[in-house]
Amino acid sequence: MQILHPFAGSVQQYNEQLSNADAYRPSHCPQCQTKHPLTAHGFYTRTLIDTAFDGVIRVRRYLCNACQRTVSLLPEFILPYLRSSLMVIALFLVARLLGGQTIEAAARTAPPMPHQRGQFWIGRFCAQAQTLCAALAALTQPTPAPDFVHRALTMLESTGWIAAHRFLFAGVRCHLLGWPRGLAPDGRRAAFSSATAPV
Ligand SMILES: [Zn+2]
Repeated sequence: MQILHPFAGSVQQYNEQLSNADAYRPSHCPQCQTKHPLTAHGFYTRTLIDTAFDGVIRVRRYLCNACQRTVSLLPEFILPYLRSSLMVIALFLVARLLGGQTIEAAARTAPPMPHQRGQFWIGRFCAQAQTLCAALAALTQPTPAPDFVHRALTMLESTGWIAAHRFLFAGVRCHLLGWPRGLAPDGRRAAFSSATAPV
């Protein structure tokens, strides 16, 4: 299971604090709710494309000794299962959907990328827009807008994308671009949790 790292800061600051396993060790298991602190369980690596970073970062993992499942702490600038950072995705979506740029021009906003990737984000964002409007109403006033896509973008801009992601992912287990198939509605594998989760 992935949860949000309580740490807030840049990619570089994130990398610097990673060596200390105690700093953000979860005090309980989010999966079985056991009250024992989790055991540090190494890292996994993943790629990240940010406005000023393109490389591999480590993600810290903890193990729950009660249910034997792992918990990974994702930094807040990452959306689960997406290689580009939240800010890169936000810049593209705003340029294309609010700014009215062509998809090719929006794909050239920092850092440049194949426009097909942007098309993929747009498809997922548009499918998720109505859900986002409902969820974000807890944070900010819905504004008049021609459709859910514009309303969701305006609400994200006024809340701040990171703050919104923190609320959506950590608070209500909602993915800004929608969970991939098989992980809806809350980012856990349905088959996994129903087959093996302790009752
Ligand atoms: Zn557990």
